[in-house]
Amino acid sequence: MSTPQTQPLIGTDSFSWKKWDACTHCGLCLPTCPTYRELGLETDSPRGRLYLMGSAFKSQDPTPLNEEWAEYIYRCLDCRACETACPSGVHFGELLEQARAIYEQNASRSTSYRFWSNLVFKHILPNKERLDLIFELMWLYQKLGIRWLVQKSGILKLMGQMGQMESLLPKIPSPNLKYTMQDITPAVGEKRYRVGFIPGCIMNQVFTDTNIATIRVLTQNGCEVVTPRKQTCCGALHLHNGVRDVASTLAKQNIDAFEDEDLDAIIINSAGCGATLKEYEALLEDTDYAEKAERFSHKMRDISEFLADIEMIPPNGKIPLRVTYDEPCHLLHGQSVKLQPRKVLQAIPELELIELTESEWCCGSAGIYNITQPELSQEILERKMEHISDTDADIVATGNPGCLLQIQLGIQKHGLDMKAMHPITLLDYSYRSIPQDEWEE
Ligand code: SF4
Ligand code: SF4
Repeated sequence: MSTPQTQPLIGTDSFSWKKWDACTHCGLCLPTCPTYRELGLETDSPRGRLYLMGSAFKSQDPTPLNEEWAEYIYRCLDCRACETACPSGVHFGELLEQARAIYEQNASRSTSYRFWSNLVFKHILPNKERLDLIFELMWLYQKLGIRWLVQKSGILKLMGQMGQMESLLPKIPSPNLKYTMQDITPAVGEKRYRVGFIPGCIMNQVFTDTNIATIRVLTQNGCEVVTPRKQTCCGALHLHNGVRDVASTLAKQNIDAFEDEDLDAIIINSAGCGATLKEYEALLEDTDYAEKAERFSHKMRDISEFLADIEMIPPNGKIPLRVTYDEPCHLLHGQSVKLQPRKVLQAIPELELIELTESEWCCGSAGIYNITQPELSQEILERKMEHISDTDADIVATGNPGCLLQIQLGIQKHGLDMKAMHPITLLDYSYRSIPQDEWEE
């Protein structure tokens, strides 16, 4: 009897085997992995996931690349705590993103999954006008108060996972308040630096006030801020969900948008986007954009990283509040930025910074994890909220839109008298000496 011929797996030729081989199976990453802690399974640990990738891709047999395989690979938060713990320098996040891209190219996904995935990743996120329109409609939806009608109509059920997003919708700011990109915002006083700024796509829709605050803080510190309109979505959500080809196209568009500008740094205030933008170098290493991507990635700085590096003008406005800081995974584990956000917060007069137990653990937001894995996401959030509650802080500061939304959700669920805020928003209030009772809701 002849052995049936199987088609070789698509995409495995671009899998980084050298990086995968760096794993010595020591297991030191296991205690730092949130899914391993919650589920206790080797297949839900970094080492187990690396094994699953290697065994499936080496065999070139599509059989092991089934739904069960995908469940373990997609249950990973991509928090990259295992990278920080790994003594062998395994680039787990990069390997995970490659593995998901291989799965997406070989798996038979349902028609509805393909439809929503194409719509969101190819036609909405990369298109600012469409994204603006969707968020304007969401703002209108919230303003009209027709939520009950939509929930009753059954439309949300038909939309599957996308419909579940409705219950997690944050308050959308009015389109009139949105930060609109200006090519150049001049420095206040003497010009010390010329920096680029990336407002992000979801960040700019939901946390537009943080973008406005970031520009104010930068100009206050003598920066001329360049925001090229040709820039687009960074591609982080695409990479986390296996849509690598679109992420590469978006990366090239962003690189082109900034390439001809003479900049000291390119600034971002969203940790998830920042990690991706710093890794364009790896994403495009085998392409004709390799050199440009390297130049671009080396200029990228998180806002806290930039402010901690320059001689930051000290803010004067007092904020006599207890503030705790929660580390966004993609800032700490993805970019090794740990002390800089604390330094920014400690510069604010009378602000009391309280250390948070397990601040380096994921909050369960992880991009769209709270939609794709709602139960596990909530379990992980519960542990985070216990520690946050113990601080008795007035404010939880964190520098990533997903974390801000997830922690705010936890605060509401637990009825805590706290608020989640971006560190730059606090710094901006201090620069402007705005008293707390005049802060925006
Ligand atoms: S990225 Fe996070 S959830 Fe995924 S394996 Fe590593 S530690 Fe675990
Ligand atoms: S990923 Fe790193 S820490 Fe984890 S088992 Fe492999 S070598 Fe050890």
